Amino acid sequence: MDLCIDIGATKTFVAVFEENEEKISSSEQFLTESSEGFDRFLERLESACIRLLKGEKPRFWGVCTAGAVNKDGVVLWSPNLGWKNLPLKELMIPIFGEKGIIENDCNAAAYAEARVRNVENLAYVTLSTGIGMGIVVNKKIYQGSHFSAGEIGHTIVEPNGPVCSCGRRGCLQAIASGRGLENQIFEITGQKVDCAVILDYAQSGIEPYHGIVRKASLILGKLLTNVVDILDVDTIVLGGGLTKNEYYTNMVVEFIVKNYYRLPTKTVNVERTIYQLNSGVVGMIFLIRDLFGGVGAC
Ligand SMILES: [Zn+2]
Repeated sequence: MDLCIDIGATKTFVAVFEENEEKISSSEQFLTESSEGFDRFLERLESACIRLLKGEKPRFWGVCTAGAVNKDGVVLWSPNLGWKNLPLKELMIPIFGEKGIIENDCNAAAYAEARVRNVENLAYVTLSTGIGMGIVVNKKIYQGSHFSAGEIGHTIVEPNGPVCSCGRRGCLQAIASGRGLENQIFEITGQKVDCAVILDYAQSGIEPYHGIVRKASLILGKLLTNVVDILDVDTIVLGGGLTKNEYYTNMVVEFIVKNYYRLPTKTVNVERTIYQLNSGVVGMIFLIRDLFGGVGAC
């Protein structure tokens, strides 16, 4: 069996695939709780994998995770997980074997979305606890010179804005992500309100929720319109927990569709993910089989 794991800021999703299948055969999800320490996380991950693989070692394995990941599988920095220079691949090899790779979660998701649509140039944006983006150029993941291409969550959109998990002020995700919305509401009301509830209140026009969410959608829409124009992609795909709320997502999509730069021959598809469960693990199954061979490889 092949094993794919998506380590998110909030949840970790583990999936196994039969060797001749592209569909998930079984999966488990648990809370990442990275603040409890990496060793505790690894224990929970190992026990989930033992259950799913029935004690066997995987044929190939792939892990995608939040944060910048270099070609040696080191997580250089993940503000959302609190990991810095973590040699993740080195730590996984004794558990799962040599045939594995580590990739950024948004890059993996972008790869899955581009492969399934058979498009050359695509950006995948995840709107969740944080905000991230993966870029596929000429059907390949674009990682950038410092393995941090697409880190739009930490681009500054309001210099004196709210403090971000990276320590700076006014990053996109401090304003427009799930945690960003919750923190802004906490600052104003002193109340801890779940993001899903904030979006519901906003849709009902209740202040300050409506104002905060409306502003977030405009800032996000503006930045993604610029992304579409800078990269000149065929398709931009939105995914992640926040896209379950149509009110928020629709405002962002409408802004992009209305405002991207028109050339006579230019049409950009603004779409939602087709993978409701997890596009990161689908990207990883394509990536590991491209590298090591097997069904689904190109
Ligand atoms: Zn930041």
